[in-house]
Parts: sequence; C-alpha cells; structure tokens
Amino acid sequence: MSDMILNTQGVTKAYNHGKPNAVTVLQGVDLHVKKGEIVALVAPSGAGKSTLLHIAGLLDSPDAGQVSICGSDMTNLGDRRRTAARRNQIGFIYQFHHLLPEFSAIENIVLPQLANGVAQGAAQARAQKLLEQVGVGARADHRPAALSGGEQQRVAFCRALANEPRLLLADEPTGNLDPGTSEVVFSALMELVRGTGLSAVIATHNLELAARMDRTVRLEQGKIVT
Ligand code: ADP
Repeated sequence: MSDMILNTQGVTKAYNHGKPNAVTVLQGVDLHVKKGEIVALVAPSGAGKSTLLHIAGLLDSPDAGQVSICGSDMTNLGDRRRTAARRNQIGFIYQFHHLLPEFSAIENIVLPQLANGVAQGAAQARAQKLLEQVGVGARADHRPAALSGGEQQRVAFCRALANEPRLLLADEPTGNLDPGTSEVVFSALMELVRGTGLSAVIATHNLELAARMDRTVRLEQGKIVT
C-alpha cells in the first residue's frame, strides 16, 4: 500500500474568472506528503497558502488537477462522500480557534466525535486525554471565552484531532499569538502530531517554526518550490 497521505497533482485555481479583477492563485501545484511527515508550507501573505490548504482539505475544489488523500482520488467525489472523507480523514486548524462559544472546551472536542458515531463515554475519555496531552486538562469545563488565546488554540488542536484524522492541515496556527505563547503552543502541536504519527501541512511565514518541521516547501508564483 502506498504511504502517500496527500498527493496534489497539477492543481490550479483562479478567482473571478473572466472579470477585470481575475487572479490566478495556483498554477499547477504538485504537493506530496508521506505518512508521518510534517511539512512547512512557507510563502508570504497572499501567495495562496489558504487556497491550497482549502483545496487539499476538500473544502474547495480546484479548477484543474487532482487531489488524493490516502491514495484515493477525491477530485470528483459527490458532496456526501466528500464530507465523509473530510470528517474521517482530515483535521483543520485555523489562525483563530473557531471554537463553539456556548460549549465548554471538552464539549467542543466531544461533539465532532458524536457526529461521527462515537459513543459518549469513549468520546469524553478521548477528549480529556487530548486536553491533558497539550497541557489544558484542568481547563476542560471552561468555555472558550474563559480561556487565554494560547489555551483556546490548544483546545482547537484537540478538536482537529478528535476523530483521529490521517492528515492535519493548519493555516498559520500560531499566527494570532504573541511570540512567547506561540512558542509554547507550537511545541504542544508538534508533540501532539509526532505522538500520533499523523501527517501534517502547516502554513507559516515564521522560518524558525518551519525549521522545526521535517521539511519546507515554498509556494512561489502559484507553484511548489522545494
Ligand atoms: P495566503 O493564505 O497565502 O495569504 P490566500 O490563499 O488567502 O493567500 O489568497 C491568495 C490570493 O487569492 C489573494 O490575492 C487573495 O486576495 C485571493 N483570494 C483568496 N480567496 C479569494 C476569493 N474567494 N475571491 C477572490 N479572491 C480570493
């Protein structure tokens, strides 16, 4: 069996087709991520990192090209199978935590598991374990508003891993934090990912953080440069 977790081939994407403000963002992106590999996606703001992560995460479709996850071509899947693949195989982390404000930290990690058919007790146990792994176990019953920015983001990491995805996609996961907090939170993320053997693509423009991943790819003029 192939140990390729993410494979994009010739992915292109433009916005505002045919209009004066048309912009071609991706011009043939080939990105290959193996099992257990953590890849830094580095590019300046506006280069297309989010666009690429959304396409790789099946949240958006390319104009042309292919996206395969764990060896299965996802390009032409219908909505239902696409949603199922996203829910089972992909975890997403954004720059802002996007936790549900009316639920506690642990509930934010339990809910996606219940939606995926996991029993309440097992979901609860897994959520608590994840929170403890990133050092926020004692904050499990707090709502997001009662947590610091770094704690909120660590809870968001746990939520992304709740359903044991094969691929984690993170869009500037510490970009919203001060440098000191960013360091602690990034270390927690790396430990969590390494501990699971998960593959990850983490977009950042912080070269120090990029150097701590397995390898760096750059997005330049809509293409991947290694
Ligand atoms: P990055 O994540 O590297 O900052 P993005 O992928 O967010 O880059 O954006 C790449 C380019 O595509 C930018 O010029 C942005 O303005 C444009 N863009 C992104 N999303 C849209 C959209 N929905 N409609 C039009 N233009 C967009």
